[in-house]
Amino acid sequence: MADNYLSECPRCGCRDLFIRKDFPQKLGLSVVIIAAVAFLCLASSRQHFYLGAIVLLVAALIDAVLYWFVPKITVCYRCRSEFRDVPLNPHHAGYELAVGEKYRQIDAPRKDSR
Ligand SMILES: [Zn+2]
Repeated sequence: MADNYLSECPRCGCRDLFIRKDFPQKLGLSVVIIAAVAFLCLASSRQHFYLGAIVLLVAALIDAVLYWFVPKITVCYRCRSEFRDVPLNPHHAGYELAVGEKYRQIDAPRKDSR
């Protein structure tokens, strides 16, 4: 049962797939921005400087916890489909720029052909 992971993309048949974290980037970014603003406000008064440092620490912690808990998903290099409900194929690795470039060039419209 556990070995029915993807070896090719069910949508376009591409055999190159990669694994990435399904991290909500906007959420991670807002945590960083809020923490930075809070730090600047608190750090401007000397009594609360340590509070600002704590805010930064807590934000870093939230980011780490978020990163730990977000699931990994399989993504197709060619059509960029994301597959969340499939077991991860142990043969798949993270995004590789070289492979990504290969598919970018295949899909790019060829201007020199007549
Ligand atoms: Zn695909």
